[in-house]
Amino acid sequence: MHIRQFSFNPFQVNTYILYDDTGECAIIDASCYEKHEKKQLADFIEEKQLKPVLQLFTHCHIDHMLGSRFVSKTYKLKPLTHKDSLPFLENSKEYGKAFGFDVEKPVLPEVFIDDGDILMFGKQELKVLHTPGHAAGSLCYYHESGNLVVVGDVLFQGSIGRTDLPTGDHDLLIKSILQKLMVLPGNTTVYSGHGPSTLIADERTANPYLTGIY
Ligand SMILES: [Zn+2]
Ligand SMILES: [Zn+2]
Repeated sequence: MHIRQFSFNPFQVNTYILYDDTGECAIIDASCYEKHEKKQLADFIEEKQLKPVLQLFTHCHIDHMLGSRFVSKTYKLKPLTHKDSLPFLENSKEYGKAFGFDVEKPVLPEVFIDDGDILMFGKQELKVLHTPGHAAGSLCYYHESGNLVVVGDVLFQGSIGRTDLPTGDHDLLIKSILQKLMVLPGNTTVYSGHGPSTLIADERTANPYLTGIY
């Protein structure tokens, strides 16, 4: 299993492509906005001869879904998400205006996913973890055999997601982190929605929002 990270749009959102030797791949948080960013994503997929079979969101804040319509149209792939994040997608044009983005209305999901679901691409399994608190409908994707988890804005190196936006809830976020992420093996690599990756073990010991709890 391989993972490729891109950082797109003025918010520097990490878009991840997970793929294996079968060539099938999952695209998480298609956040490419500018034309050259969309090209960068498409060029990588073409160069590696990948076949996107999953389009996923960690959550549907505007900066994380700017390239969703492009991915849907280019690869004939509707996104999958938690039902609680649907309002973010439905109102994305309006949210986008507030941040100066001209949002291409995403193709809306028809299938919803939830905690415990297993998603497949190639020979790989991704387990869905429901982790609300930063935004309603937040999901993390755990790849057990690859020792990695894609967490969006739930957890960062030395920090946690902000909870001052609509549907944010600090206590709920801490609960999600403790019950869904901190129970993973310490050597699990955490791929966040912005910034560098980290390890579960390092966040257990050094994350100021979590120390004192351990
Ligand atoms: Zn967010
Ligand atoms: Zn974000």
